[in-house]
Formats: sequence, structure tokens, C-alpha cells
Amino acid sequence: RSLGRPAIVSNKQIYSYENLLTAAEVISAELGKKLRNSAVRAKPNGTGVPDRPPRVGLYAAPGPEYLAATWAVWQAGGIVVPLATSHPPPELSYVCQDAGVSAVLTLPDQEVRLGPIAHEHGAALQLLEPLVGSNRSSCSSCEDDSNGNNLSGGGDSSSRFGGSHETAEAAVEAVAADLKDLSASSTSGALIIYTSGTTGKPKGVLHTHRSLQAQVYSLASAWRWRPSDRLLHCLPLHHIHGIVNALYCPSAVGASVEFLPKFAPAAVWQRIQSGDISVFMGVPTMYSYLLSHHDAQAASSPERAAALRDAARALRLTVSGSSACPLPILNRWRELSGDFLLERYGMTEIGMALSNPYKGERRPGSVGTPLPGVEARIAPDGQLLVRGPTVFSEYWGRPAATSEAFDADGFFLTGDTASASGSPPYFTIEGRTSVDIIKSSGYKISALQIESVVLEHPGIAEVAVLGVPDETFGEVVTALVTAKQQTAGAEAARPEVGELQRFCRDRLAPYQVPKRWQWVSALPRNAMGKVNKKELLKMLQTGQL
Ligand code: ATP
Ligand code: MG
Repeated sequence: RSLGRPAIVSNKQIYSYENLLTAAEVISAELGKKLRNSAVRAKPNGTGVPDRPPRVGLYAAPGPEYLAATWAVWQAGGIVVPLATSHPPPELSYVCQDAGVSAVLTLPDQEVRLGPIAHEHGAALQLLEPLVGSNRSSCSSCEDDSNGNNLSGGGDSSSRFGGSHETAEAAVEAVAADLKDLSASSTSGALIIYTSGTTGKPKGVLHTHRSLQAQVYSLASAWRWRPSDRLLHCLPLHHIHGIVNALYCPSAVGASVEFLPKFAPAAVWQRIQSGDISVFMGVPTMYSYLLSHHDAQAASSPERAAALRDAARALRLTVSGSSACPLPILNRWRELSGDFLLERYGMTEIGMALSNPYKGERRPGSVGTPLPGVEARIAPDGQLLVRGPTVFSEYWGRPAATSEAFDADGFFLTGDTASASGSPPYFTIEGRTSVDIIKSSGYKISALQIESVVLEHPGIAEVAVLGVPDETFGEVVTALVTAKQQTAGAEAARPEVGELQRFCRDRLAPYQVPKRWQWVSALPRNAMGKVNKKELLKMLQTGQL
């Protein structure tokens, strides 16, 4: 019965856990044959360590095949290497080369794109058969959905995460207990995820089955995942946020994931309004778009805006992460939904480490306290250090980078600067030590703090604050800004620089106020909505902005 529950909803079709497990066995049998092929076995693994499990590239649009193929690779003893569907061939090729993939899995419509890349790297290409789901109305697995409300939790009392509130709470306790003993889970490699490439060439981060399990247990217990949940998924499937938090977690507890092929505010609101969705996870920019969509509706139809507000209030959990969530977004979302977004902090290397509480005080501007199983401390120079079972085991093929990334006590050096206050201490991320901590006139200044203030100005849409090298000040606090369009179709009016400076002087210390302001038409962002500040600085210095 519980295997009949919906695992994935995609393109209005439902795919049960049973459907996906059956598909995984078929994929795995074929993959196993390919991996046993001697030519593939002889492939050097680039790490100098013998007998590493084979790496298998996975290039698939969000859909049921993605999860089935993941399980299939694990059944065949391989390591999944997610390939970004948004990446051009040279970047796909870089990842295939760097990870030393022996096989690439993809859907038939991508054969033309992936075939030459697989061939170039001596990897076998395996085409995944597109799965057929059942329509919502004819889905036997949705028997607990007969009242049209699949968030009722159903009567699945056999599941650890059974529907009633008490059972769900008990299951959360049990999962927390599991986290204390991970000895049964395998320490062999499961996943190589490439970092976002915000500060340099993306690095392959190896997670074992054990570290993934620790991440899933930690989040399942902290965020109270339950099988009656349905998450609306529109994050890329090649980053930890989209893979672990938004896909592995729900599927580990028997919940369902509904894929939206592409983030679009109207489509997200429409699905949230359906009442089917209980959980949403996004990067701050997505919430900004969702809020703008709401505001545009409010201008034309207060009734429609009120309906959006009610839908937002009905969500059980809305999480923000991947980059700092600006205060105006947190505040506006709270006005709309009645609750702060749950902001958390994590990295490819460590999974999620700090989180505001599910229940209890969510502090705007803070990323909360260490998640279950995670130890966090702040080094004397302000760097955040993290240790625990969720932490990765190595940068693939980069032994020197791996050893430099840990201190003598086994803490991972995050490269982010943080502070903590209160009891229990809540952590605040000041930014990346390398680009967000500006050293000007002897002060250490957090770019993120300034960005949050500048964004409160009604005329500003986007901002990135940089420290630009300068003979007199060391670095000069420089703000790159885009103006906000006040009404649809109208030209965005730029506020006066004097006015922006006055606005900042009222809210920041004098040394924090940007000395230079530069207007840009848009800020270049990567797939996770992040701004590459090193790149931006180079563009600014070479007059490309
Ligand atoms: P690369 O390591 O290739 O430069 P990246 O660090 O952006 O890329 P990820 O591992 O996806 O790749 O991102 C982790 C980083 O994202 C963290 O080190 C931190 O700087 C930032 N981050 C994540 N969540 C938050 C948050 N809530 N607040 C501030 N920063 C965050
Ligand atoms: Mg990083």
C-alpha cells in the first residue's frame, strides 16, 4: 500500500513509488551489463585510488525518470553524477571528463546532445525509456485522495511517517534517533555534485550513502517531513538544494514531489492555489518574483490578491536558501503569509548546516542554529567551521584541495564569515570571506548587510556590493544597482545617488555607506540565481558594465 503512494507528479501524471522502483530495476539491469563491459571497467578514475565505484552521468529533465535512474545507478553500485540540463556542451564535457564517467544516462530526445559527449569520453550511452504514469483520476495509489485533498495524510498507518499529527511527531523522533547511529549505512560513494562555480571552476564534491542519509535524516526531523507532504519543485537538479533538500528528502519519507519544468511565478501561484502543495523551496529571487506577481495582482484585482494570500498562508513550509535572503523579501513574505520564510544555510560540501526552527522564533537576517547532527563553530578570524556526518568525503580528484579544506580537528572550512549571538546562539552569515567581506579604511564590512539595506529603497530592484581595490581606502564600498520598474510597461526611474546615500546613512555606519554607485541594466546570475562577484569586479574594472 505505501509503495502505491505517489512519488512524482509531472505533467499532470502521477508516478507511484512502485512504478519508479520497477523502472529502476530495469534501468539498473541494463546499466550493470554496460558497466561490466571490460572497456568501461578499464577506465582510469583520475583519483589515483583503485576500485572506485563507476561514475554515471545523469542528464534528464525534471521528471519521474530522474528519480528512477538515480535509484538504478545506486542499485548497480555506481555514483550518480548529475549533469546540468542548462549547461552548454563544453561544460557538460568538463564534468564528464573531471568525474571520469563510465556511462551516461539520458532520455531519447537528448541522444543527439549527449551521444557525442559520451563518445568523446569513452562512456557508454544508455537511453532511459520515458515512463508512463497514471492520470490523477485513475490512480489507484491515490485511494486516500478520494476527497480531492491529498494533503489529508491518508490512512497510511503502516508508514513511519503516518498521517496523524502524533504519529508524524513520533516518526520525527525516530528519524532523529536514526541520525545517532549511521553505522549500517554504506560509506561508498553515492553522488558527485559540482559546486555552483560562484567563486571559481566548479569542483566535484563526493558524498557517500552515509553522508546523504545523514542529511536526509537531519532535515526530515528538523522540518517535520511527512508522507502526506507534496513539494512543488522548480529548482535545478544539479545542486544540493534541488537534489537533496527538495527531492531525496521527500522521497525518503514517502512524500511526493511535483515538478514544474520551469520556474514561472504565475504557474507557481496557480499550483499553490490548487491546495495540493504543502511545501515550497526556493532561492530568494524566486520569492521576489512571487511577491511581485502578487503585488501586480493586488493592483488590478484585490480579490485575486487575497486568494493568493490565502494560498500562501495554507503552505506548511516555505524555505529559502542558496544565498542570503534580503530582509525586504523576508518581511514582505511575512506580511503576505503570516510567517517568515524558513531561511537556512548550506553548501554542496556540507549539505544543510544551520536552519531557523520549524517551530519557534525565526530570526530575520539569521540562518538559525545547527541542524541535528551538525557541529558549527566560528574561528577567531570569523570563518564558519562545520563538522558532522553530513559533511562530504572529498573533492573528486583534488586531494590537495580536500586536505586544505579541513582543520586539524576535522572541521570543514566553509570560506564564509559568520557571527553568532543569543542563547541558543543564532548564526548570521556575513558573506563569503573572499568577496563579501570588504576591508575598507581598517574596517571589515559585510557586503550582504549593505545589500539588504539598499534593497529596502523603493526605487531599487537589484544590488551587488563589491570592494573595489583602491590606494587610499584599501577597498572602496561600491554598489552596482538596477532600478525598479514602478508600474508595468513603464521605464524604470533611477533614484538620485545623493538620495540613495542619505537613505543608507540613516541605516548604516558611515564607513558602510557605498561611496560609489554604478547603474547596470541587470546583474548576471548563475543557475542558482547567484551573482559571481569576482566576475562582476573584473567586468567593472575593464569597463564591461
Ligand atoms: P563555488 O564553491 O563553486 O564557488 P558556491 O559556493 O556558490 O560555488 P554552493 O555550494 O552551491 O556553491 O553554495 C554554497 C554557498 O552559498 C555558501 O558557501 C554560502 O556562501 C552561500 N549560501 C547558501 N545559503 C546561504 C544563506 N542562507 N545565506 C547566505 N549565504 C548562503
Ligand atoms: Mg563554495
